[in-house]
Amino acid sequence: MTSRSLASFLTENLEALKANGLYNTIQSLEGPNGPVITIDGRELVNLSSNNYLGLANDDRLKQAAIRATEQYGAGSGAVRTINGTLQLHVELEEKLAKFKGTEAVLSYQSGFNCNMAAISAVMGPQDAILSDELNHASIIDGCRLSRAKVIRYSHSDMEDLRNKAKEARASGQYEKIMVITDGVFSMDGDIAKLPEIVDIAEQFDLITYVDDAHGSGVLGGGAGTVKHFGLSHKIDFQIGTLSKAVGVVGGYVAGSRELIDWLKVRSRPFLFSTALPPGAVAACIAAIDILHSSQELQSKLWDNARYLQEGLKKLGFSVGATETPITPCMIGDEAATQTFSQRLYEEGVYAKAIVFPTVPKGTGRVRNMPTAIHTRDMLDQALDAYERIGRELGLIH
Ligand SMILES: *Cc1c(COP(=O)(O)O)cnc(C)c1O
Repeated sequence: MTSRSLASFLTENLEALKANGLYNTIQSLEGPNGPVITIDGRELVNLSSNNYLGLANDDRLKQAAIRATEQYGAGSGAVRTINGTLQLHVELEEKLAKFKGTEAVLSYQSGFNCNMAAISAVMGPQDAILSDELNHASIIDGCRLSRAKVIRYSHSDMEDLRNKAKEARASGQYEKIMVITDGVFSMDGDIAKLPEIVDIAEQFDLITYVDDAHGSGVLGGGAGTVKHFGLSHKIDFQIGTLSKAVGVVGGYVAGSRELIDWLKVRSRPFLFSTALPPGAVAACIAAIDILHSSQELQSKLWDNARYLQEGLKKLGFSVGATETPITPCMIGDEAATQTFSQRLYEEGVYAKAIVFPTVPKGTGRVRNMPTAIHTRDMLDQALDAYERIGRELGLIH
């Protein structure tokens, strides 16, 4: 390394993380990210993916990706605004708009990129953003990028949001004010209180922005949290990801025709980063067709989620405030949570420990993500492990 200051920065900080047990070693899978995964030659029941509907490994998506790759190539060759827009991108966007019930949709390379793109395309230093304190990292970064004043409100606390909206409006300091929230919160699985948020937004003329990464494909017949509440015409920005329930990669913004027209000329990841590759786009189209034509996968997902949540509760565990398939098994103490997850791993179950600083101190949990393609046997195997380890650690009796 040429820079001594960089070398000492890296060494010091890496050592500090390792000493505090905060350094995450990344394991790699020896096959697909399915309901059972293989790591170091061992098979584990996988309760840590976002592959809610099993579409990441679905044959219809794989075939669509192969066909499009053969027809269009491996890459799209340019950014969307030069000549990287293939007919496939337009087809995907039209299908998504129909599915979401909005006038138009614009796709991006990831859900993360959507938040980098969309917030700063409309918000600036003269504006304010009311942001739920538990919003996803990409929302936080997207807000920072916009240079708007960020006002955090307590998680899903509608009185706090109302007061802060009122205060921001009354100050006369801001041109535009936005309220921004996750549709489904990924660490607890609770759903944003969108009807009340819309109510407050109407009262104080707020722009509404819902990032529905964990709601898409899961709620509202698959169309997401906004549809679940019947609010498709009342939310200005709906962000979706193509990387979770849709099973591939990418993200999109759904909204009015004018909003999408603006994003096409003013959102930087759209203008300056190469378009999604043809294989990924074709696989997404196949996934949306599946979601649109049948509820089968969604109902299997919810059946499995209920089965796992009921099973954990029967054993004496708490699954917290979840209202969705996201299933936290609340442990509390950070070290006990890590030990629990490690013991699950040894017993053939892959479920990640989530602890401070990702969640508040004392609320450590093992997070379980059941999917549509887990079998009852797999879930029973996981529940058996939970029972054994819970007893062993004195957490249940
Ligand atoms: C996962 C997630 C993202 C990122 O989506 P990617 O497509 O994986 O980049 C953005 N926002 C929220 C709320 C998420 O949960």
